[in-house]
Amino acid sequence: MYYYAMSKKVQSPWASRDLSAVSCYGHSMEIVSDKSVSFPRIHALERDVIDQIAAGEVLERPAHLVKELVENSLDAQSRLVEVEVRDGGRYVKVSDDGHGMAKEDLALALERHSTSKIQNSDDLWKLKSFGFRGEALAAASSVSQLTVHSRAQGSSEGYWIRSEFGSLGDLRQRSRDLGTTIEVEELFSNVPARLKFLKSAQSEVSQIKKVLKAIALSHPEVTFKLKVEGQMTLFFPQHLHMKDRAQDVLKANLYEVNFTDETFRLNILYSSARDTQKSSQNIWVFVQSRWVLDKSIQAAIMDAYRNLLMHGEYPTCVVRLEILPDLVDVNIHPTKSQVKFQNPSNVFRLVQNVLRKGLEQSENKNVESMATHFSQGVESSSQGQASFAESEGAFLGWQETQYKTKTFPPAPSMDLEQKVASPVEVTNMASKGFWSQLQVLGQANLTYILAQSSRALYLIDQHAAHERVLFEKIMGDWKTGRVEVQNYLIPLVLDFESHMIEALQKVEESLGQFGILFDLLSPESIAIRSGPAIMKESAISEALSRLVHQLTHTQSDFAFEKAMGDLAASLACHSAIRAGQSLSSEEMKALLSEMDRDHFSTYCPHGRPVYQEMTFTSLDREFGRIV
Ligand code: ADP
Ligand code: MG
Repeated sequence: MYYYAMSKKVQSPWASRDLSAVSCYGHSMEIVSDKSVSFPRIHALERDVIDQIAAGEVLERPAHLVKELVENSLDAQSRLVEVEVRDGGRYVKVSDDGHGMAKEDLALALERHSTSKIQNSDDLWKLKSFGFRGEALAAASSVSQLTVHSRAQGSSEGYWIRSEFGSLGDLRQRSRDLGTTIEVEELFSNVPARLKFLKSAQSEVSQIKKVLKAIALSHPEVTFKLKVEGQMTLFFPQHLHMKDRAQDVLKANLYEVNFTDETFRLNILYSSARDTQKSSQNIWVFVQSRWVLDKSIQAAIMDAYRNLLMHGEYPTCVVRLEILPDLVDVNIHPTKSQVKFQNPSNVFRLVQNVLRKGLEQSENKNVESMATHFSQGVESSSQGQASFAESEGAFLGWQETQYKTKTFPPAPSMDLEQKVASPVEVTNMASKGFWSQLQVLGQANLTYILAQSSRALYLIDQHAAHERVLFEKIMGDWKTGRVEVQNYLIPLVLDFESHMIEALQKVEESLGQFGILFDLLSPESIAIRSGPAIMKESAISEALSRLVHQLTHTQSDFAFEKAMGDLAASLACHSAIRAGQSLSSEEMKALLSEMDRDHFSTYCPHGRPVYQEMTFTSLDREFGRIV
């Protein structure tokens, strides 16, 4: 047997051996006889090496250390957790007011695979704690100078112990309040390779902030403080309600929707599709209170906002899911940042459905709150409140010539929280007709409908508005099987590859509901007998090809619905009123009343907003009438 060693100018390690050189592909190639080659033998690793390898898995960077330490504090039932970092996380101190550790346990806590949290492997399936591997403190103490200082519940004395890169000092006594402080200095000083991988101090600190925000989002009942280089950087006081904590952490205007059954408990806080972000970093997912990166839940969130966001726009959204412990495995990743569901597609569907329904309600609520303002006018509450029945006809008093603000009895309003309490249900509140009650003033630049309420001026994009209306109609007709069908005189023959035809056959029934009926001519061709009347015959082959492509290239359970959504969006776009088209006053009014029928009339199917609002107050301010 021979080894081949490539050599250019570099001296080969085997250069001194018995070589005969040959040339191959322009490199010189040496043929080496293997008689003198030795190979490595097996031996057990030293403890410090084992610890460092483990440390590499659990603690890749300072933010992981902060996460492990704060999670330990939460496992100890703390109500106050203070984190201090310096030097981009090379110094970390976490203090808590939890139950502390007994004197005898301090040294044990730093041993590998030592934990107070589980006893046997069965416990792995009913975890209540964050920790269970008994690895974090051992790992941290092997790559830093780590001091544990703790006073346990029921003990009058505090104790501390210090480890210098894995070698443990003596246990000493020092008084302190109930709880634990873990101080980590010189992190990674003995592992230069890891130090090299650290990013700038600023970017490590921003990771640490992210970790702390995540933990804060899942534990509103705990107060968190973060000091960076001695400066108070984050402070989240304890709250009773998740929503208040989320508002503190994310500084966004959020809605809430809940769902509970025997298997799941789901709480979602989410922004309106109008409040968008440029990246997905404000999408937060928690499973069993753990912050996880779960692609399918992330996809479900984006799917719920489908056709409401523009390309590159993301919502702010916090999903918190509790699931029966048997149906999820949290022990699949060293940093526990991933989980495995027994049935991921159920989870996808649940999150998608609940959030979509929440959105339907809150977007209505938005329109409705405009209607409420509208109805309240300037001198709102002093007059007696109208009864629900009286206010039914709230908007009928509006007159064509009325250009000034006018007072109306308040419209009935509905409390979102109350409505979306579990299990979710949807009601169409848009029938109250905000849009149709606007007064149409005219058309601007043959593109925008100009209209007003008593409170604000509205510019409505005629194409976007109509597109949305058509989109909802097409989707609605499809789902309820009311699509207007057109039979073709001569069937349309289309060729596909056989696996594509199989994909089409799987969704044959749904396609039929959409008016698309076809016969199989051969394994590789079909004859289309009919299509939806709204779709031009010439457009059907392209539409079907796109549909088949999507069906065969996306794995998601919702591939078909998504593909149909895209199809409906493009149909709507082609058939909608264009910009530049002149509209009569009647046509504009008709369009506005159609907008009242949908949940999402305020976004076009591509997610562009349909209208802009200018309140008279803001106009008055612009004109210097008020300050
Ligand atoms: P794990 O959390 O997986 O058990 P760790 O290495 O993180 O492993 O911690 C080891 C043990 O030290 C824990 O099981 C716990 O008993 C104890 N411990 C760590 N931090 C704290 C703390 N802040 N308060 C009380 N006990 C703690
Ligand atoms: Mg732990």
